[in-house]
Amino acid sequence: MSGPTQRLRLLYIVGSGRSGSTLLSRLLGAHPDIVSVGELLNYRQFFESAEERERYCSCGSALLECSYWKRVRELTRHACGEEFPDLKSKVGANFEAANRAVIEAVHKASGGRIVLDTSKRYDRLRMLRATRAFDISVIHLIRDPRAYGYSSLLTELRKGQGPDVLYRKLSRWQNKNLWLRAEAVGGTRYQQVRYEDLVRYPQATLSSILDNLHLDRVDDLISAANTAEQHEFSGNSGVFSQRALKLDLDRRYLTQLTSRQWRTATLMTLPGLLTFRYPLTRDEPCAPEYVR
Ligand SMILES: [Zn+2]
Repeated sequence: MSGPTQRLRLLYIVGSGRSGSTLLSRLLGAHPDIVSVGELLNYRQFFESAEERERYCSCGSALLECSYWKRVRELTRHACGEEFPDLKSKVGANFEAANRAVIEAVHKASGGRIVLDTSKRYDRLRMLRATRAFDISVIHLIRDPRAYGYSSLLTELRKGQGPDVLYRKLSRWQNKNLWLRAEAVGGTRYQQVRYEDLVRYPQATLSSILDNLHLDRVDDLISAANTAEQHEFSGNSGVFSQRALKLDLDRRYLTQLTSRQWRTATLMTLPGLLTFRYPLTRDEPCAPEYVR
């Protein structure tokens, strides 16, 4: 039963936070062959705290009342004995049993679609690969580090952190994304996607992703995403609550970082900027890589 042809297809988004993974998953989840569920690694934590934190599914139901998830929970319990197994277990056998149970349950409850997991962490991807239970395709989602840094800075300042947190974030961005790329080079089922290309050239970028996944192109995935019912249990509530998806590039980082912040940020992330082809000056991100 465990031959390669029986392995479930899993689509995994890896990268830094604040890079548009909620937007991408909402768009891809509107495809008839893909079901996006959110950051699977937090499955147990989200459901167990759902009542206390008043969590909602992206379909609009209270999370514990959503009939789609009730079905997934039932199938999961049937497979492994509990509704909310720990998908972060560090013990290989437990990790595999828990993830297999939930991912197969989602697959079944969605009528056999490819499961999209937006967990973004590389350690999780490595453990998923090690199980050999899944046929995994990876999307490495990247955003200009100065935009990522600026967005992180705003949040951290609100939490009372000092402005130097910007540089710690940038250092982490650089390590993570260059390392991800180095790890992935030579790997087959891996695609880099820049957030800026997704927002500015959504149709071309999405078509390129679907081609790589050997799935049919859909004429207007953006309209489909506005009407398709989806059941993400986690994600950016701002994107969830948008009736019509807005594909606007947030350009504040181009004007709001001081000259010193811009220079330092650019120097710190120079290898990453060159690798992922971002401009060094305060220009809009350069020509798209995926337009066909
Ligand atoms: Zn739902």
